[in-house]
Amino acid sequence: MSLQLASQSVSQGTSTPRLGASLEELTAWVQEQGQPAYRGKQLYQWLYGQGARSLSDITVFPKKWRENAEAVDFGRSTVHHRSIAPDGTIKYLLKLSDGNIVETVGMPTQKRLTVCVSSQVGCPMACDFCATGKGGFLRNLETHEIVDQVLTVQEEFDRRVSNVVFMGMGEPLLNIDNVLAALRCLNEDVGIGQRSMTVSTVGIPGHVRRLAQHKLQATLAVSLHASNQALREQLIPSARQYPLEDLFAECRDYVKLTGRRLTFEYLLLAELNDRPEHAEELAQHLRGFQSHVNLIPYNPISEVDYQRPDRRRIDRFVRALEERHIAVSVRYSKGLDVDAACGQLRASQNSQA
Ligand code: SAH
Repeated sequence: MSLQLASQSVSQGTSTPRLGASLEELTAWVQEQGQPAYRGKQLYQWLYGQGARSLSDITVFPKKWRENAEAVDFGRSTVHHRSIAPDGTIKYLLKLSDGNIVETVGMPTQKRLTVCVSSQVGCPMACDFCATGKGGFLRNLETHEIVDQVLTVQEEFDRRVSNVVFMGMGEPLLNIDNVLAALRCLNEDVGIGQRSMTVSTVGIPGHVRRLAQHKLQATLAVSLHASNQALREQLIPSARQYPLEDLFAECRDYVKLTGRRLTFEYLLLAELNDRPEHAEELAQHLRGFQSHVNLIPYNPISEVDYQRPDRRRIDRFVRALEERHIAVSVRYSKGLDVDAACGQLRASQNSQA
């Protein structure tokens, strides 16, 4: 099944082939360089399957061309730092070509290798509970910089990536074109099933509906985190410009247009939003909504003093939703020991401390 996504041109602003380019685009580029078309297929295979970092790495190419084209690099990052957690999770600090650092997390289980990718350097949303938000925003990531994160984890683990979640640094819907191009490439060129990919958003007015037009088969996860508008505004500054009813209306349209169930993420903060009355309020909003609630017990960050609820409070919240027939699961984040869990990623290199 092919994605209805605009694919990024190889030559956007440069004449360099980059991750994110399709087979057709790579073939066109190779031909522009005066090479036969079949070298496009070779370039494609080396770019996505062999971890080639520049044209000079591709040993099946004629030596003379490779020497002339030495400067053609594919925009790969370099691993600046690795933090390995006891549960096998590895957090990478990746250095981009402009020297900026992004964080990417590889989470292995027996059956899966999930990559948590960043979509921006930093994040402008400034959610109060999130370390990324505390560090401010630098820039959007390019398509190749998103795809690179997945390939890097695949190479590092020497194992195929099965799942991708856009839950690293940044707000994906503020970088929607590059995120869509990366989803296309990860699906068609890297071979990851659309349904094995999740885009997580805090919700940007108009953008959820815009995303729905693309009829993605990837899962959309919406960071709700509160059962009413006042509480949400307290935690998420951007919620002031986005009433809950408007967010829910867009989400309903999303389900209608895509035919896909949607996930609501709900951060659990002890005493603040984890009481039975919050569960009841949440259930009222979601009654009859084709959705699933994913509870995320708060992962501590140093700047704020929210509390992570204990197991008893988490179970109580789960039961309260289940009694009201709301589909619910709990995400026990991986990588807590190395600050690699949800919300603990930072733009700065200090995170390696
Ligand atoms: N900007 C996107 C992706 C953010 S990261 C979004 O808002 O959805 C993915 C998830 O981690 C989001 O639901 C985010 O709210 C959550 N998160 C942020 N800080 C957290 C923390 N300290 N503990 C647990 N989850 C957190």
